[in-house]
Amino acid sequence: MSVNKKLSIEEADEKIDSTLRPQAWNDYIGQEKIKKNVKVMIDAAKKRKEPPDHLLFYGNAGLGKTSLAYLIAKELDSNIKITSGPAIERIGDLAALLTNLSEGDVLFIDEIHRICKTIEEYLYPAIEDFRMNIIMGKGPMAKTLELHLPKFTLIGATTRVGLISPPLRSRFGGVFQLNFYAQMELEKILQRSADILKVKIEPDALDILARSSRFTPRIANNLLKRVRDFAEVEGQGIVTKEIVKSSLGFLEIDEIGLGPSDRRLLEILIKKFKGGPVGIKSLAAASAEEEDTILNLYEPYLMQLGLIGRTTQGRIATKLAYDHLKIKWQQDQQSYLI
Ligand code: ADP
Repeated sequence: MSVNKKLSIEEADEKIDSTLRPQAWNDYIGQEKIKKNVKVMIDAAKKRKEPPDHLLFYGNAGLGKTSLAYLIAKELDSNIKITSGPAIERIGDLAALLTNLSEGDVLFIDEIHRICKTIEEYLYPAIEDFRMNIIMGKGPMAKTLELHLPKFTLIGATTRVGLISPPLRSRFGGVFQLNFYAQMELEKILQRSADILKVKIEPDALDILARSSRFTPRIANNLLKRVRDFAEVEGQGIVTKEIVKSSLGFLEIDEIGLGPSDRRLLEILIKKFKGGPVGIKSLAAASAEEEDTILNLYEPYLMQLGLIGRTTQGRIATKLAYDHLKIKWQQDQQSYLI
C-alpha cells in the first residue's frame, strides 16, 4: 500500500537544498583559493593511491562547507557518510560509524566543535592510525578490544573554530576558512539556482536579491524560493524587481539584508546600552537571545557590514548603525570606535 505523505516545509526546503547543491567544481562558485588547495591535495593523494589528509572547514552556516565535502567525495569517487558532533553520543556510536566505513570513504562531521571530550579522545587514534581501542567490561575483568579501521578521510565542519581543541585541530592536514561571498558570486549562484528551479528572474531582481542575501549562498537560495512563491501568486511567474521588493518587504528584510531580529539587536545596543561597549552576556540577556545565536547568526554579518565593532570592553554600535536605524549619532561616541 502506498502512503501519500505530504512534505513539511523543512523537508521540502531540505529537498530543494540538495537539488541546488553544486554537482561539479564549476557549479561551486567562489572560494577559489580553497578549491585550488583542496584539488592539489586530492590529486597528490590520488597519485600516492592513499586517502587525502583530514580536512577542517570553518565559517558561517550556509557558506558551502557541506557542499565542498560532497564535491571532494565525488572527486575521490568515494562514498560520503554524514553525521554531526552532537549526534555521536556514545563510544558505541563512533565505533559503529567508523567500522561501517569502507576503504577511502569520506566521513563528514558537521558541528565538530560540539563533539564531547570523551569521544574526541577516541577519535584521535582513529584518524591518526586508523585504529580504535574499546574497553569492554569494568574493573579487573575489563578487556581492551582493538579495532582496525579502513583508511578514510575525515572532513570536519564548524562555525566556531575557536572551540575546537588544539589537539583535534592539529590532526587536520588542511584547515580552511570559508569567506562570505561577493555580490557577483551570489548573482551567479542565484542564476544557477533559478535555472534549476525553472524560475525566470530579471537582472534587476537578481541584483537586489543578491544584496539581501547576507553574503551567504544558502540565504540567497532560500530567498529565491520565497520570492518564487510570491511571483507565482502575485505576478506572472516571472521574478521582477517589484516582486522582489514587495516580497522582501513582506518578510521584513531591508535593503541591506537585515531582518527584524538584527535591527532589534542593534536597537538594544544603541538605546539600552547607549551604543556600547557592552559584553556579549549583557547583550544576550537584554535581547533574550542565546549567546550562541548572537555570535553565530547576527554578529558576523553585522560586523561584516561595519554596523557593529568589537573593542576590548565589548561590542559597540558604529555610526553606520545609527544612520541605518535613523537614530541621532552623538559625537562623543566616536571615542569608542576601533
Ligand atoms: P554549510 O555546510 O556551510 O552550512 P552548505 O554546503 O550546506 O553550507 O550550503 C548550503 C547551500 O548553499 C547548498 O545547498 C548550495 O545550494 C548553496 N551553496 C553553498 N556554497 C555554494 C557555492 N560556493 N556555489 C554554489 N552554491 C553554493
